[in-house]
Amino acid sequence: MNCERFLNYVDSLEPAETSMPAAMAEHAAACPSCADALATMRRSMALLRTPSTFARADIVSRVGALLPFVQAPRRTVAMRNWVLVGLLIMLGMVFLPLLSDFDALTAVYGSSFTLPVALVLGLVLSVYAVAFVFSNASELARRLRPGHAR
Ligand SMILES: [Zn+2]
Repeated sequence: MNCERFLNYVDSLEPAETSMPAAMAEHAAACPSCADALATMRRSMALLRTPSTFARADIVSRVGALLPFVQAPRRTVAMRNWVLVGLLIMLGMVFLPLLSDFDALTAVYGSSFTLPVALVLGLVLSVYAVAFVFSNASELARRLRPGHAR
């Protein structure tokens, strides 16, 4: 028995095979590298025999039973960031008329420029406020609840 034949034998092992011919066992006892290869192969096969969580037939019902206890996904944008962006939009509305370009355009176009700008900015702020309320509804309800401590 040489190492090459032994390793060929190890490669051809069936997962359920636990016994081996006497000549193979002798070589494994005498040759550390082949014994190591055999041990690695047996560990791999043991891993394959382990019942997998995902291979179970009742995986769908088990996951479904756990869903009510799983925490809801967190909101990705914090309410503080929503408020900050809203404040930036309002600051933009306040400071836009102070820009020199705004004055120049107003001098040329008059109210036919300022009125549409004011309408668009008001619309932007309204849409933003609606988006803010809808995306933070649960948090707002929690904070506005009577007896809320924080
Ligand atoms: Zn060997």
